[in-house]
Amino acid sequence: MSREKTNGKSRNSNSKTHLDQRRSEVPGRDPFKLRILKFGGTSVGDEFCISKVLEIIRSASQESSVVVVVSAMGGVTNRLIEAGLQSEAGNLEPAKHILQELRKQHDRTVEALIHSETDRNRIRSRMDVLFEEAHQLCHGTALLRQLTARTRDAISGLGERLVTPLLASALTQSGFPSRSIESSDLLITDSCHGAAEPHMERTRELCNLHLRPLLQQGIVPVVTGFIGSTAEGVPTTLGRGGSDYSATILGAALDANEIVIWTDVDGLMTADPRLISDATLVHEVSYREASELAYFGAKVLHPKTLRAIARCGVPVWIRNTFATDRPGTRITPSGMGTGVKALAAVGDASLIRIGGPGLVGVTDALGRTFATIAAIRADALLISQSSSQNDICLVVGSSVTKHTVEALRREFAHDLAHETLEHITLDASVAIVAVVGHNVCAMSGSVGRTLTKLAEKDVNILAMTQGSSQCVLSFVVRQEDMKTALSVAHLQFELASPQSRSLRKTDTNPRPVAWFYGDERHSANAD
Ligand code: ADP
Ligand code: ASP
Ligand code: MG
Repeated sequence: MSREKTNGKSRNSNSKTHLDQRRSEVPGRDPFKLRILKFGGTSVGDEFCISKVLEIIRSASQESSVVVVVSAMGGVTNRLIEAGLQSEAGNLEPAKHILQELRKQHDRTVEALIHSETDRNRIRSRMDVLFEEAHQLCHGTALLRQLTARTRDAISGLGERLVTPLLASALTQSGFPSRSIESSDLLITDSCHGAAEPHMERTRELCNLHLRPLLQQGIVPVVTGFIGSTAEGVPTTLGRGGSDYSATILGAALDANEIVIWTDVDGLMTADPRLISDATLVHEVSYREASELAYFGAKVLHPKTLRAIARCGVPVWIRNTFATDRPGTRITPSGMGTGVKALAAVGDASLIRIGGPGLVGVTDALGRTFATIAAIRADALLISQSSSQNDICLVVGSSVTKHTVEALRREFAHDLAHETLEHITLDASVAIVAVVGHNVCAMSGSVGRTLTKLAEKDVNILAMTQGSSQCVLSFVVRQEDMKTALSVAHLQFELASPQSRSLRKTDTNPRPVAWFYGDERHSANAD
């Protein structure tokens, strides 16, 4: 049965209301097609950006049913977390100051976008409630001098709750009935604060209960991204940048036909355009490739985004809010073509070494390392054990470094005390660069040329692995070398536009040189 049919069936089974009939009568509109439109913080940064967003929603809802998922206004989540941290440090005044500034920012946006005084007052009253909640959370934190993961989630999720009433009201005002919905009423998660995972069955039930009737009446639900709640009603978040994940969770729960992630770039590019100026658009990638790129730092997509739709295979688009004429990137289960699609990098990573000569005598050291990082839900960007078995090498992002080292020291406390294990050391100044694409590992020519060029530029490779999926090749370099590593790989894997490649390609006959892998020296041939 096609997706359209499945959707059509479930919606047909309920009686249509007046509004539904009115909406379905719009020529060219397919009421049985459902799209999730997600707008990131960059797309709702100010009233100018929001007016672009409104145009997109209006135009999309003339073609199909839509559910809007929205992030906090750009920068707001960071400021809220800062307020929480200031409170934890006992600095309540700076925390209050941040909240005042945020209030002004949202008030200004309401003034600019909402014409009716009644609607403005309604939104302002809602803001009063939300800012009161923020003040109380800051007070509580200051009193205890502790920002718990639970409180951090409650504070950081306020940005999304502030923006949805505004967007829904602006849409309604322009003739497109809309309702602001807090996803804590829809998206039920476990209680892992800061990285919560959805309970899909319950989420599906609630989405059908609360959103389906609105869609049937032709009302556009505007749902908060990023946040959820436990079954007991405790607020949670899906992790920083998690609104992309919210969009696919809702998409899976509602059997959507398409999910569109609207952002501030043309789509998924061959590298972060902020770092590589000649990065080009990737037209189509597979779920796996996109997930790997996100995992290795391509911020345009949250790493878990495609997890929610792995089974249903719904296509995801990444498109530019500010250039709607551009095609964007399509992400499908199997993607298109082989070869390297793009690069990603995590610029602030740490290299943790566990070992010493006695490591070989430590029972199941590698298994315990894996289990420890899984238990704290830290993601290992790279993990390897050198052939001499002296060291286990682990690379994690800087935000989880402290937590990971502490957890490993606890796990190996006995071995460290009895000196079977010599050390757990930390180098917090590394970066990891990932080359992603189906069959990347078969591209020995480009890999060799990249390594040769890097060695010529004195870029030392501290560690390197190829993923078991044959889809990722990643190497660890010093932070100051990351940009060079990215631009060399971008050129050697022929990801830049042909014009810029011909301008930059000077050495067509590279020599074999020596390069470092872990502690050992290897020789890499140019081809
Ligand atoms: P949003 O607010 O829409 O969620 P984000 O800031 O989270 O936007 O993600 C968009 C940003 O991701 C872009 O501005 C870009 O700098 C960055 N980015 C990193 N890697 C890539 C890539 N490979 N392709 C596109 N953008 C990327
Ligand atoms: N507002 C949240 C954040 O800044 C979620 C998101 O942007 O997707 O992390
Ligand atoms: Mg984002």
